[in-house]
Amino acid sequence: MKAFVVTAPKTFELQDVAPPIASAGEVIVRVNRVGICGTDVEIFNGSMPYLHDGQAKYPMRLGHEWTGAVISVGAGVDAKLIGRRFIGDVMLGCGKCKRCTTGRQHTCATRFEVGIRNGWSGALAEQLAIPARFLHEIPESFDDTIGALVEPAANAWRVADAAQAGPGKQILIWGTGTIGLMCAQFCIAMGATVHMVGKDPVTIKLAIEVGAKSAGEKMIEVDGGYDVVIDATFDREVPAKLVDLVEPGGRIVLIGLDNNSALIDSRKLVFKDITTIGILSGSPGLPHSIDFIKSGRVDPRIVVGATIGLDEVGDVFLGKRPAGAGVGPKILVNPSIL
Ligand SMILES: [Zn+2]
Ligand SMILES: [Zn+2]
Repeated sequence: MKAFVVTAPKTFELQDVAPPIASAGEVIVRVNRVGICGTDVEIFNGSMPYLHDGQAKYPMRLGHEWTGAVISVGAGVDAKLIGRRFIGDVMLGCGKCKRCTTGRQHTCATRFEVGIRNGWSGALAEQLAIPARFLHEIPESFDDTIGALVEPAANAWRVADAAQAGPGKQILIWGTGTIGLMCAQFCIAMGATVHMVGKDPVTIKLAIEVGAKSAGEKMIEVDGGYDVVIDATFDREVPAKLVDLVEPGGRIVLIGLDNNSALIDSRKLVFKDITTIGILSGSPGLPHSIDFIKSGRVDPRIVVGATIGLDEVGDVFLGKRPAGAGVGPKILVNPSIL
């Protein structure tokens, strides 16, 4: 089968590789769609921190925001899964440690991260192996585009949940990329009022389309201030700024991640009585993401700019926009287009 492999920083090959074989407890999925995200770009560029502390090393097969159909099962897995459509958790915890048994398997010390950590091959390939216990079935009503967006949307659900988004809440989201836009969708669906700040006029326009009350390159002041501020950027300057912007007693939710540490003055958190929450993964949000999309409260497809084949992936990583791409920041890949 064909697989997109990163062999060194900014170096890639479309390789012919042996298809995976399901070990006990695993299934093999035919990948119908997979999204390219900021984490993938950082790994491609060689800047991702995991590459520097040994949690990841080249060659790597990227791709963790996937949807597909099960085509075979390993020992101990119900053959009735074959033919059904799923998405999968990115974080594959050991299942035995205290974190795994208390709902925090996404922080398991020995976890694999699909296409990211400890060498688990990702979904930028025709097929993918994954333990059956990490599958989530998607409803019939989901097309493949929605399927590939469930995982990033689950991150956004967790952000909105951590923000305690609801009626009466004024929320400022810094960053109008895919995750920022999806965070806005979930916060708005939960009843909050959202204002956004971004750098790109195109995605700033999308922010208004998803229902943000304001969006621009500069933030606006609102009566009563911001109860919650969310960092959805790759900008180390933003977190400290948000500490100054949030109302005393409010919340800061961090999902953005610069490759260098972002410094904040912890005294300000104390003096302002701020709750600060970091969101690593969508794992605990996956069922909620599916629910919100199924019920029509959120339709994440607006973030998609183009769907391409495996042969165009390298160009996208090198910074080229696919021909004919729309305005959405997210690029999806259909590995069966070769
Ligand atoms: Zn991602
Ligand atoms: Zn564990």
